[in-house]
Amino acid sequence: MIYLDNNATTRLAPEVLEIMTRYYMQDYANPNSIHSMGLTANMAMEEAREKIASLLGANPREIFFTSCATESINWALRTATSFRGNRKKVITSSIEHKAVLNTFKDLKNTHDIEIVQVPPEKDGVVLAEKILKEIDDDTYLVSLMAVNNVTGAIQPFEQLGNLLAKKGIFYHIDAVQTIGKMPFSLKNSTCDFASFSAHKFHGPKGIGILYVRKNTKLRPFITGGGQERGMRSGTQNVPGIVGTALALELAVNSLEETSTRLNEYRKIIIETVKEIGGVVNTPFDHSIPNTLNVSIPGIRGEILVNALSEEGICVGTSSACSSRSDGGQYVLEAMKANPEQTASAIRISMSRETTEQDILTFIGVLKKLVATLKF
Ligand code: PLP
Repeated sequence: MIYLDNNATTRLAPEVLEIMTRYYMQDYANPNSIHSMGLTANMAMEEAREKIASLLGANPREIFFTSCATESINWALRTATSFRGNRKKVITSSIEHKAVLNTFKDLKNTHDIEIVQVPPEKDGVVLAEKILKEIDDDTYLVSLMAVNNVTGAIQPFEQLGNLLAKKGIFYHIDAVQTIGKMPFSLKNSTCDFASFSAHKFHGPKGIGILYVRKNTKLRPFITGGGQERGMRSGTQNVPGIVGTALALELAVNSLEETSTRLNEYRKIIIETVKEIGGVVNTPFDHSIPNTLNVSIPGIRGEILVNALSEEGICVGTSSACSSRSDGGQYVLEAMKANPEQTASAIRISMSRETTEQDILTFIGVLKKLVATLKF
């Protein structure tokens, strides 16, 4: 199999599996137990927190472990809403992940908030000025993704952070698609919250991170035994947390080499896509190096994905037709792509494990399939 759907999830790094096995099989105690095995587990967890904080440019006390980025996002947006006072307005983009869009939808039903969704430009990038223009005295929260998962387009999350500083508005960044794909640091960031997910960078499924800036108001999300300094109860997933720290370290250390290599692979794919009459939906110079969203007019996205799958190649679709896809059709629609371009879009997302041979095989199969499938 050739796996090119890494924005959906990645393979666990073998080194990560190895270290996790130790904390499942040997040092498996509850990190909140006070006996020696508990202390060993606790120490491993806190060392992982320190490593993660240092790699992200944060303080360990600003790092909370959750079960996935969706949980981190829910926590951030719901916490901000609980401290909004009389303010009602949130501003986000129309191309956010459903974890953000549907959480706001729910908050609208339950808390009567007002949601402003700023659309992207044709290249899939949202302009910071357009978000800023929507801000008024009624605004309590801005949430923007750092990188769009469907197109790979990098959003102006840093610029927006500078513009928002000292405005007294909560700022959340969905940073899920940044790790291992572009330099990312919270060191000079002014955001209050940032969400991450380990399974997107060769870490385990079941671990999310919520960064909460020091002095930002925070409401406990899951109440119970008081773990995570009383803010997120439930016995921590020590193997997953330790694995996440190692996965993050590996991702950061290989960033430069991986980026250069994957950008070359993207050029090879783009050449082929153009040769077969396709359109590139990703802004090459303003996107992460692992992602390429392309449309092959005349072939529906899901038909091409299925045909590639039969040839042993896994790519993602942007179509909303399948409830099992991550349904990115609305992203292309928001970019004002024409209906055919939207219906025929596929997403190729590589990882540091992708090889040149994978890409050469992929483009060979793509050319062959397009010749037979096109009507
Ligand atoms: N945000 C973005 C940009 C994503 O790509 C994803 C996953 O696809 C999520 C949030 C949700 O992540 P998780 O699967 O960890 O809940």
